[in-house]
Amino acid sequence: MDARHAILFEPVRIGPKTLPNRFYQVPHASGFGSAKPRTQAAFRAVKAEGGWGGVCVEYAPISQDSDEIPAIGADIWDDRDARALGVSAEAIHAHGALAGLELYHGGWSSPNGSSRAVRLAPSQLTSQLQWGGLAKEMDSADIARVQRDWVGAARRARDVGFDIVYVYGAHGYLMTQFLSAHANRRTDGYGGSLANRGRFWLETLAAVRDAVGGDCAIATRIAVHGDSGVPGAEGLPGIHIDDMLALVKMADDLVDLWDVTVGSWPEDSGTSRYYPEGHERPWAHRVKEVTAKPVVSVGRYSSPDLMAEVIRSGAVDLIGSARQAIADPFLPRKITEGRLDEIRECTGSNVCILREETFNHVGCVQNATAGEEYRRGWHPESFPAAADTGRSVLIVGAGPAGMECAVVLGKRGFTAVHLVEAEPEIGGRLRWARRLPTLGNWGRIIDWRAVQLARLPGVQVITGRRLAAADVLEYGADLVVIATGSAWRGDGVQPGYPDPMPGADPGLPHVLTPEQACAGKRPPGPRVVVYDTDGYYVAPGVAELLAAEGFEVTVITTFSVLSPVSDQTLEGDMLRAHLHRAGVSVSHATTITGIGAGSVTGHDRHGEPWSAACDAIVLVTQQVSQGTLYTELADGQALAAAGISGLYRIGDAVAPRMISEAIFDGHRLAREIDAEDPAQPSPYRRERADPA
Ligand code: ADP
Repeated sequence: MDARHAILFEPVRIGPKTLPNRFYQVPHASGFGSAKPRTQAAFRAVKAEGGWGGVCVEYAPISQDSDEIPAIGADIWDDRDARALGVSAEAIHAHGALAGLELYHGGWSSPNGSSRAVRLAPSQLTSQLQWGGLAKEMDSADIARVQRDWVGAARRARDVGFDIVYVYGAHGYLMTQFLSAHANRRTDGYGGSLANRGRFWLETLAAVRDAVGGDCAIATRIAVHGDSGVPGAEGLPGIHIDDMLALVKMADDLVDLWDVTVGSWPEDSGTSRYYPEGHERPWAHRVKEVTAKPVVSVGRYSSPDLMAEVIRSGAVDLIGSARQAIADPFLPRKITEGRLDEIRECTGSNVCILREETFNHVGCVQNATAGEEYRRGWHPESFPAAADTGRSVLIVGAGPAGMECAVVLGKRGFTAVHLVEAEPEIGGRLRWARRLPTLGNWGRIIDWRAVQLARLPGVQVITGRRLAAADVLEYGADLVVIATGSAWRGDGVQPGYPDPMPGADPGLPHVLTPEQACAGKRPPGPRVVVYDTDGYYVAPGVAELLAAEGFEVTVITTFSVLSPVSDQTLEGDMLRAHLHRAGVSVSHATTITGIGAGSVTGHDRHGEPWSAACDAIVLVTQQVSQGTLYTELADGQALAAAGISGLYRIGDAVAPRMISEAIFDGHRLAREIDAEDPAQPSPYRRERADPA
């Protein structure tokens, strides 16, 4: 290990417990909750195995009036829930780490749609639409009962082995609702002055401490206002950092670990597009100045030098991480072993959050094994040796899918893998996407794989060679994997319109595909329409690129907001504000159906005819698989004559999808290439409730 990083491996005492080092996986959602105990346990345990000294499960609602369905939390309402979560504590302990549980109550933000319990809040107020009705103003019996529930949950957590229990106060949930002078309009002893507004929090901390403080470290999570000025979701107005620092001083004796979050969730989990690594550091430092207790804070840290520097500066005691710990559960081990170039750096694209929030199953663009530890038995660092490593494999196309497939085959011991790419560089669509404004860190997907590919003796990378079907048949490979990806359509085919759009011809000077724009084709005049029916990063990226060069850019989108997918990655509002500042105009809910010389035509949200004058259009409508090579080869006789015993297709060549899914596809095929029918994913283990 580099001596400069030794500070990261110092033990840290928190209350009655000692963390073995300064790497701390903060609580974060996974979609597994207490309903999938083995999936949860395997997902967390691999981080402990990789060297994280503290590993937490996600938020754990303490009672049925914090029912989060359809979101999945680690409910700890009763002993049966607790036993399910105890499986994680045990699995984390097996690798010498401490296990933490984030005991939680959402107050007015808990939908309670499944439990039908009334929502609870300090006051009957709301600042936004409350689907399903308003909350009940908590009376003294409610306050006492929630505190009893908190203590009961803490006891259960302790009894099943958790070392750290949280009194979760961040993100605008019940504790913050009490603390906020805007949300808390009470006139009793729980409202009014800061001391009164903080009373519910402090009393709960004291009660939990009395119950389990001898056995467990008591952590609390706070939100201080950041650049977004808002410490929580649900439209809760900001609590000024000075008020939060006053609370920290009041509660310091009751707390063993301060977990500091900053601003709204989109700021706290800020993406690499808009926040640099370590962006929360100044705010955490403010908390550190007023407490005698250890402080943890996140900041998408992936650089060991920066981590060590932040600790030395006194801003934090522990390096908190959610996303980097997902991208590389073995980051601490790699630092101790001096294998810094092996660290799979987080891209900061928040695909983990999109997957967890949208599909209730976390996943990672960089680490295809994330969330697959139990159900598929995948491990991020170990790759079962293949039965026959001597079979030669030709992979055509070095995009995300092809690169990942080659890496995993190489790690499985294959001795003759050829990854052949038509372009001079590997990377596929990321070659140009990483060069779009703000997307540079997405290039880490290529960079990590390039390092791996160069190290694997069994893998050869050949660039600048486009293979036709005859070339593949003559290549002499036993197995062939087609990973030729996708391209953006230039014919204007879009959702609801399966026929080409009149005038859509990227051979014309005024019609561009995103790839053409990125390769340097430029509109013949200043007024450019970027037409988006895709809804993610490509249209905003191309729009900003052209605006930066002085073009007058308008994004016309069929959606009611620009880039709705970016709302799932927490970037939507920032992206829209960013493009506004970059001078890009946006027109919503509008469909383009024809391109003429000097104008585009279509209809608006009401179906009325619409047109706009412009000098050029960039079509970001749909991708199409580049699948002809596969179909030309899929002739059993020709394959057999060429000695090819298996032909497979992965990634966008099968169907255009998110980059994370293309990587998953390549990874899965390489893991299962020994299966009876590798083209079909093997069944995976599912956790189901017993019918009894
Ligand atoms: P995916 O995400 O599925 O990996 P991409 O479209 O990002 O797909 O990447 C596909 C890659 O395949 C591109 O780099 C492209 O240049 C390459 N490719 C496509 N056809 C051929 C071919 N016939 N021979 C070699 N490389 C090819």
